[in-house]
Amino acid sequence: MSKGTPSFGKHNKITHIRCRRCGRHSYHIRKKRCAACGYPNPKLRDYNWSWKGLKNERKK
Ligand SMILES: [Zn+2]
Repeated sequence: MSKGTPSFGKHNKITHIRCRRCGRHSYHIRKKRCAACGYPNPKLRDYNWSWKGLKNERKK
């Protein structure tokens, strides 16, 4: 009976919770920072290689 992912035993450490600004499950508890939007930084974290959902899809 060892189908699937055996590493599920390490799944008791919570690192990210739901972010209150972007609503994603990306708020890092220990870092106190959202990995997706950069909360609580006032400036939105934004990279040109990641456009998913943070802002509206850019049109050329
Ligand atoms: Zn966020």
